[in-house]
Amino acid sequence: MGLDRQAMESYFISLGEKSFRAAQVMKWIHQMGVTDFEQMTNLSKPLRQSLAAQADLTVPDIISDNLSIDGTRKWLLKVPGKSAIEMVFIPEESRGTLCVSSQVGCTLNCSFCATGKQGYNRDLTAAEIVGQVWIAKHLLARQYQTDSRVVSNIVMMGMGEPLMNFDNVVSAMRIMQDDFCFGLSKRRITLSTAGVVPQIDELQRQCPVSLAVSLHAPNDSLRNELVPLNKKYPIEQLLAACNRYVADSNRARVTFEYVMLDGVNDQLEHAHQLAELMKQVPSKVNLIPFNSFTGTDYKRSSNSRINRFRDILHEAGVIVTVRRTRGDDIEAACGQLAGDVMDRTNRAEKFRQTLVEKIQ
Ligand code: SAH
Repeated sequence: MGLDRQAMESYFISLGEKSFRAAQVMKWIHQMGVTDFEQMTNLSKPLRQSLAAQADLTVPDIISDNLSIDGTRKWLLKVPGKSAIEMVFIPEESRGTLCVSSQVGCTLNCSFCATGKQGYNRDLTAAEIVGQVWIAKHLLARQYQTDSRVVSNIVMMGMGEPLMNFDNVVSAMRIMQDDFCFGLSKRRITLSTAGVVPQIDELQRQCPVSLAVSLHAPNDSLRNELVPLNKKYPIEQLLAACNRYVADSNRARVTFEYVMLDGVNDQLEHAHQLAELMKQVPSKVNLIPFNSFTGTDYKRSSNSRINRFRDILHEAGVIVTVRRTRGDDIEAACGQLAGDVMDRTNRAEKFRQTLVEKIQ
């Protein structure tokens, strides 16, 4: 499930087979949704048998499947290690976006994110990342009774920091792009990062998909508080990496995500500072109304505050949109994905203790 074309070809060569078997098997798996080798009828009987004996082709089990009143759908998937991850499908008129997880939990601990509070267990394998796309594609195609692309866009914006699980995420994104698999163009795949600078450069070299950066603050002192990773890679370094990322393309822009936290980062001076930063990079800004979760003290900025903030950016010549909140009734909105993480960092326990203290 997680082998990209090159890895799959090497695998067949190691079995003494021709490399074109890779394309055949990848089509069966990803295009047709077949996971039983016996049904792969253009392979010889002995090859089918030896694959069945030695290859692993499993997808995560679905634990639950929730539908929001706005049509957003969230699945909880079981993964080895006594954990579960979440993925979300967001249907719109002209496209269907799948939000995919890259880690069980997250190591970064951004102060306003539910995933961070759950702690971290492990990285997902490439197979577990692709498995999410596989499940969504084949399940939705069956339910909508269509062969057309129900999943037209993918955002690496679920649980985890994709650039901290670099190799597996890149293999998975190659499979998403492969014409024998999901055939999505690099523009239809967006990777969102909190700003792991060296890996932004590496991504540009290895798999240049659309880039989104979780900025959330227009100066280092505030960003250090909200996104602790900023202490390692401050804003100036981050913006320089973003510039390098789009340098080769005259049309590409980096999307900067900015969560709107009441009284924290939503003041008019912040909008002016952000507008100055945005002049340095070909960019657009996506303002995300904060989505609440149990135990957080943050509040969502009012609509009028968000609109004012947007207007200041707009007047300064910045391309800016406000992300429409989707799926918050089933806790499927940005920052609400928590799954079920067997935490290995102690962080979940600390967060529970703060909750208990608050209630008392
Ligand atoms: N680790 C990556 C991928 C996660 S993407 C990253 O940080 O970009 C999830 C997006 O939702 C990020 O932009 C994240 O900052 C944002 N987010 C996190 N918690 C949120 C919340 N409670 N409300 C709204 N957006 C949130």
